[in-house]
Amino acid sequence: MAPLDLRAEPGPMTRVKLWRLAEDPEACFVAFTASSLALVRVPDRRSEATCMIEDAVLLPNSIMVTPRGPTVTCRMAAAWALFERHSLQRAARQHLGTEIVGVRHLGTYSCRNVNNVATRRRSEHATANAIDIATLVLADGREVRLARDWGNGKPEGDFLRAVRDGACRWFRVVLSPDYNAAHADHFHFDMGPWRTCR
Ligand SMILES: [Zn+2]
Repeated sequence: MAPLDLRAEPGPMTRVKLWRLAEDPEACFVAFTASSLALVRVPDRRSEATCMIEDAVLLPNSIMVTPRGPTVTCRMAAAWALFERHSLQRAARQHLGTEIVGVRHLGTYSCRNVNNVATRRRSEHATANAIDIATLVLADGREVRLARDWGNGKPEGDFLRAVRDGACRWFRVVLSPDYNAAHADHFHFDMGPWRTCR
């Protein structure tokens, strides 16, 4: 099977290949090389058993990601590359007539449980397998903020809904303000074993 191509028009096998990266981390690095996309690897860190960093990279950005270069698993970076090119920019052109030039995130790696609750399982953030997105910056300088623009009945709100739906094509779990109050101001995307899109 040919390596996953992160830049080609997605076909029926694209997501199959993307989601298989969880069982074959090396195939992820091959995908970036085959797609001629540069990647900076992050050394593995196994000091804490449930908060390991393995097969991680600095999130490569064609658009500005702030704070810069967060650590994510390679398969998160691969999903992001597909999301950015085939969903995010398309939604921006369709609903706002412009491009996205920047994204502000609230973090990727954090050694903690889901919702910071002691009795819950480890969050995908504990292995840098997730990212939280709060703000999208448009080419004309305007900002679209989850906290302000979600469900506002305007093009910005329609755009955010399209971003959420588009993200569900690539990420395993997508949580929006529709999910719960803890996500009122950001999207959570992760590449863990569960499948949720809300
Ligand atoms: Zn999150």
